Amino acid sequence: MKRSEKRGANVIVIGAGIVGMAAAYFLRSAGHSVTVLDADTPMAGATGASDGAVSVASKKPGVMMVLAKAARDFYVQLEADGLLRDLFHRRPTFMFARNELEANVLAAHGADLAKADVQVDELTVSEFARRIPGVSRNVVSVLAVPGDGHALGYQIVAHLLKLSDVTVVRHARAKRVRVENGKAVGVETDSGFFCGDAVLVAAGLGSADLVGLGNFICPRKGQIIITDREKDNEPALEGPLMSAAYLAAKRNFEASRKNPISLVIDPLRTGQFLIGGTREEGVDSRTTTAHYVSEILRQAMDIYPAMGRRRVIRTFSGVRTATVDGLPVVGFHPAITNVFVATGFEGDGICLGPLIGKTSASLMTGKQVDLDIASLSPSRFVSREGTDEPQPTAAADETINAATTGA
Ligand SMILES: Cc1cc2nc3c(=O)[nH]c(=O)nc-3n(C[C@H](O)[C@H](O)[C@H](O)COP(=O)(O)OP(=O)(O)OC[C@H]3O[C@@H](n4cnc5c(N)ncnc54)[C@H](O)[C@@H]3O)c2cc1C
Repeated sequence: MKRSEKRGANVIVIGAGIVGMAAAYFLRSAGHSVTVLDADTPMAGATGASDGAVSVASKKPGVMMVLAKAARDFYVQLEADGLLRDLFHRRPTFMFARNELEANVLAAHGADLAKADVQVDELTVSEFARRIPGVSRNVVSVLAVPGDGHALGYQIVAHLLKLSDVTVVRHARAKRVRVENGKAVGVETDSGFFCGDAVLVAAGLGSADLVGLGNFICPRKGQIIITDREKDNEPALEGPLMSAAYLAAKRNFEASRKNPISLVIDPLRTGQFLIGGTREEGVDSRTTTAHYVSEILRQAMDIYPAMGRRRVIRTFSGVRTATVDGLPVVGFHPAITNVFVATGFEGDGICLGPLIGKTSASLMTGKQVDLDIASLSPSRFVSREGTDEPQPTAAADETINAATTGA
């Protein structure tokens, strides 16, 4: 089906996270027969163990900011069209700095957002305190991005599963894409062989071995804390409180190697708080630790002491799929005809998932797309012949690198 107009093709999607399920939904809507294979169950990966910030504010400058703007617009459209009714909610993001180092990061980030035509409002500390009752004065600067949003990945996937009649095969771990004459003919799993005209590899971390990305993808664990609720079904604050340390970690991962904690306090619509989190490089486990949980809570209390009244009801962790150059991997596999790859979304896959799912489905069926995703192509890691050495793209600018190290 690669770059052709073939209708009614039989597509195998590997991975029932938000990206795989969104693509499956749009492929099925376009008239194709779709089988989704998951090694475990739908939402068993990062999609079921994450927050749901649909945020442009948090993205690093460049292609990620551009994609996030388009992804946020797509959520707005899907909500208005009814496909994701009541599953996406708009809200502002508040970004704060606690010291001079963080203030430099915040100022640079605000300038990059403004350059990308994103509305950014500067708030005084008093204005911030008025909008966020209960916040402390331990901040030196604050920026707000009014147009962000929130969606829970597991709710999106559950909804798409209910709506579409794609076949989902649980506990079918893909072992290999079977290739004949340079063309994919199906997928070998531990539950047997599934033949197909095209294969979408959207298996998060599991994608690495299937398409030769083992040297370029790694796990990055995140620990999260959940509180109880004060009122039912009403967020306690207008929007999330995002530290500049979080922005620094997103702009340049080196910033969080020394201190993996980057604070975000997210008011959920249930009335609960979701407080994150960590970025623990190379860690692929779902445990939470007293060390990080206590430090996240200490930082959260320092900024928002009003939370002290809340009960902590649960902690959990999820594992992000990170890439060596900090960008997702999306596009046709350069060496195997009819294989499309969509993985490596690190902490941005809930935001980007529906848009990338739709884009993958369109490209696989030979349609043109407006989105420029050339810089995400797997060909930056995998050549026609096999796997190349990593060639990371330039990270954030030097000023930010210097300002954020150790932030
Ligand atoms: C703590 C935390 C907080 C986050 N917060 C946010 C946020 O606020 N906003 C945001 O946009 N993003 C956030 N993310 C990131 C987001 O959750 C991920 O980027 C997104 O869920 C990735 O979706 P996916 O479909 O690519 O992969 P996954 O959800 O990981 O799905 C991959 C699926 O593939 C299956 N699989 C794996 N290997 C195989 C195989 N060999 N064969 C068959 N199936 C296989 C797995 O079982 C899984 O179901 C967060 C992540 C974490 C961990």
